[in-house]
Amino acid sequence: MGKNIVQKILEEHIIEGNWYPGKEIAVKIDQTLTQDATGTMAYLQFEAMGIPKVQTELSVSYVDHNTVQIGFENADDHKYLQTVAKKYGIYYSRAGNGICHQLHLERFGRPGKTLLGSDSHTPTGGGIGMIAIGAGGLDVAAAMAGEPFRMTCPKVVKINLKGKLKPWVSAKDVVLKVLEIFKTHGNVGTVFEYGGEGVKTLTVPERATITNMGAECGVTTSVFPSDKETKKFLEAQERGDQWIELKADSDAEYEKVVDIDLNTIEPLTATPHSPGNISKVKDMKRMEVNQVCMGSCTNSSYRDMMIFAELIKGHPIHPNVSVVVSPGSKQVLEMLANNGRLKDMIASGVRLAENACGFCIGNSQSPQTEAVTLRTSNRNFLGRSGTKSANAYLVSPETAAAAAITGKFIDPRDLENQGIKYPKIQMPDKFIINDDMIIPPSEDRDVEIYRGPNIGDPPKNEPLPAKVEGLVTIKVGDEITTDHIIPAGSKMKYRSNVPKYSEFLFEVVDDSFYERAKEIKEKGKHNIIVGGISYGQGSSREYAALCPMYMGVKAVITKGMERIHKANLVNFGIVPLEFVNEKDYEKIEQGDELEIPNIRDALSGSKDKLKVVNKTKGIELEASFNLSEREKEKILAGGTLNVIAQKKGG
Ligand code: SF4
Repeated sequence: MGKNIVQKILEEHIIEGNWYPGKEIAVKIDQTLTQDATGTMAYLQFEAMGIPKVQTELSVSYVDHNTVQIGFENADDHKYLQTVAKKYGIYYSRAGNGICHQLHLERFGRPGKTLLGSDSHTPTGGGIGMIAIGAGGLDVAAAMAGEPFRMTCPKVVKINLKGKLKPWVSAKDVVLKVLEIFKTHGNVGTVFEYGGEGVKTLTVPERATITNMGAECGVTTSVFPSDKETKKFLEAQERGDQWIELKADSDAEYEKVVDIDLNTIEPLTATPHSPGNISKVKDMKRMEVNQVCMGSCTNSSYRDMMIFAELIKGHPIHPNVSVVVSPGSKQVLEMLANNGRLKDMIASGVRLAENACGFCIGNSQSPQTEAVTLRTSNRNFLGRSGTKSANAYLVSPETAAAAAITGKFIDPRDLENQGIKYPKIQMPDKFIINDDMIIPPSEDRDVEIYRGPNIGDPPKNEPLPAKVEGLVTIKVGDEITTDHIIPAGSKMKYRSNVPKYSEFLFEVVDDSFYERAKEIKEKGKHNIIVGGISYGQGSSREYAALCPMYMGVKAVITKGMERIHKANLVNFGIVPLEFVNEKDYEKIEQGDELEIPNIRDALSGSKDKLKVVNKTKGIELEASFNLSEREKEKILAGGTLNVIAQKKGG
């Protein structure tokens, strides 16, 4: 029986277990990446493991999230990251060099390798033929320490691309089409593998746009073959020697095959407040637009910036629109500066932002009240832009350019009526290579690590008690994202200070959560969270588990939970439970007093269900837990760090 690409790469990396979809496997990780917002805690955890040097082939620490340095906290974190990288043999990409995923694709990604990153958009690396997976910082720290990554052996769905995209339609529209088909939930444990004749028509950066936003479907990762296009891209990055061919066998098996005809895709948009709300751009009724944001790890490659620049060239930005452009990397910015497109964009009136996450994470460029903001990024969750009343629409660079010059949410094809032709962008034979902003690992282990006053030790948890007794501190609905659980934006600077950061838990949905949780904790009771379907989707931020753990949350009961968030809860000793009967969700209200008797015994035994008593309503219901023995061990110990400490005899 033939093999698909996912199976070929993973089988080469399996350390424990076998290729058997649905079963746990332990996989060797070749490369890791961290970004500053999740990386600081990941390295604090790595330090706690007591390993003298990273054990991977390559680990990179990027600084791209908290680059708006208001106050000392972020700069202190950057200095900490730089010194910790030097001490432990890690590449350090300085602030100003660019966004981790764009940079990793340019300078480090290699077909056939495994990459684990403390960022949910790590699957961007699938565009170059890697198995690239997002995880919590603690899992990445463990991988740096040489531990394999434990995951469910995935089901592989083939997305068979046919035909060729028409002018004015691009990779962003393809992945929005994928989101229309697969939605933002129900895909846990799946990998999307792209194949078919249409693959050849897409460049590596276009493929990376598609794998980047596969994260919004909740899949483990997405991957493209490694072919002549991949080779061309690597050669242009002076890394041609790192190319290998990767393709599926002709008789490879898949869970299912879904055809997408690229010819038939139209310009699409994700409307507020979910990347899964897909509509045609032409149905947006020429709505007035207040802001356009061009960039983010989804659409900030040379190809995307060039198409945007070419389209607005010679046209002033519409007076009612604020347009911000943030190239994905120093390489992209330098190339735009050299070929004159940067000058053209500045002449048109764009606001040039740093090569960083910036607007995407809501730590700058928050739009006006009730704004219509068009963004080429990957998430439009409520409040993520930094303005809760704003309506964010996710669009392609082409649609963004059309709005920038017309002030209207128009189908970019309408620009032809204004005499604007669709430009053809040639990929360069050679990119500008200058790695001066990347500090390579040194052999010097005698390094003093810098720790600013904002950097605290990772909080500790107690082992799981015999029973959980507490109150439902919050009951939330479906598709609660980690952005809802713990916001980013201006609050991110507190990520090295968990007690302070915890004050913002659930701020977007209920700003009184923190006070209630604190009161319950101070009374010696446990906090319990109740949620709907697809709880914890979105960002990989482990703070969505770490801060609740700090506030005394012991269990989260939902109708369904996303992969990375569930792993993070386990890592911090919180029990992830699911209603056996979904209708029981209705039988619990916020403020109800719950007891989960014998929870420790339940997790120590062989059963996968337990009883939850709603003392307020006088009823009992059943919840299940789908946990491996290793995951149970972590929860019983109070989290992964406690397991490691026990093994070290601490
Ligand atoms: S999604 Fe936004 S915040 Fe996250 S890595 Fe990409 S650009 Fe940065």
